Amino acid sequence: MSTWIRLFAVATIFIVPLLSWERSAVLAKPTEKTSFGKTPDGQNVDLYTLTNQNGMQVAITNFGGIVVRIQTVDRQGKTDDVVLGYDSLDGYVNDTAYFGAVIGRYGNRIALGKFTLDGARYTLARNNGENSLHGGIKGFNKAVWQAREMAAEDGPSVELTYLSKDGEEGYPGNLSVKVLYTLTDRNELKIDYTATTDKKTVLNLTNHSYFNLNPAGSDVLQHLLMIQADKFTPVDAGLIPTGELRSVAGTPFDFRKPTAIGARIEQEDEQLKLGKGYDHNFVLNRKGKGMELAARVVEPTTGRVLEVLTDEPGVQFYTGNFLDGTVRGKGGKAYGRRSAFCLETQHFPDSPNHPKFPSTELKPGEKYQTTTIYRFGAQ
Ligand code: BGC
Repeated sequence: MSTWIRLFAVATIFIVPLLSWERSAVLAKPTEKTSFGKTPDGQNVDLYTLTNQNGMQVAITNFGGIVVRIQTVDRQGKTDDVVLGYDSLDGYVNDTAYFGAVIGRYGNRIALGKFTLDGARYTLARNNGENSLHGGIKGFNKAVWQAREMAAEDGPSVELTYLSKDGEEGYPGNLSVKVLYTLTDRNELKIDYTATTDKKTVLNLTNHSYFNLNPAGSDVLQHLLMIQADKFTPVDAGLIPTGELRSVAGTPFDFRKPTAIGARIEQEDEQLKLGKGYDHNFVLNRKGKGMELAARVVEPTTGRVLEVLTDEPGVQFYTGNFLDGTVRGKGGKAYGRRSAFCLETQHFPDSPNHPKFPSTELKPGEKYQTTTIYRFGAQ
């Protein structure tokens, strides 16, 4: 027997079974459910840790549908958690930054907390000056969701459901919401949102993860960002869109070519001043109705890459301008200004008061359905 044939035999007999054993060891427990504690009103909350075939892990709690951890490898193969958050449930119960949470019923602001539907005037809970932000005083981020572990075709999943009652935070209609988180074997966190209502309402769901692809670094200003958007929606002093769709050309909002987040953030620009940095909705260049690449972020030191794909018309790019170091997160770490960025896929803020923006209305008999993918890699 030639040496090559002998080597091949050894590989087949010893190494191949070893690899598949390792693979099945990972596969054996694609989803692990552990207790995450009790809410102040005594409800039990769990943590679901999803593991894909590459060993990548994402942890999700049914309190607020919050993404608690996303562990990804850098170009050297070193694993780190790339999202901001807390070590325990307490942190999330008291949180005001919306770390990792499902946002509902309405992602971002509704001016003066008011809108009209079919002639009926609705007044929402106001929690951001005179405006309503991220669903009001008790948004979906503070609800305990029903959870079910699933094995989707493309990876381990957890399905979260919540019934938002007619009149909750001022919104009309009993709204049944489902959020399906899947960790695919392509290292993607896929989020499928669906909802139905029994009365006409408005709806804009998103996820509020705060990313830092180099958690050892102090801020995200070196991250290179590309957003596929020729236009953005400028805001007024209350961060409400004025209604204009403004070209990004020649402004610090032009991320059509990869540009460091910090390259222009301190420029003398009225919109940057109003947002205290980036806190704006970008109008995505869309070819059709399906999933398209919205944004791509590369962190030069670690080589980590995040791609955001969605079927939504917009994305809120927020640079953690309101973080000020007083919040202590995982491991007691103080989260300072611009220590993370958010890319919240969405319909545009305040759409119920802007008939020209894509509609956020949902009628009985219709199904709200939208998907966003956060895809991780390293280069
Ligand atoms: C908003 C910010 C807000 C942040 C945390 C973002 O989506 O646009 O203005 O401070 O969420 O609530």
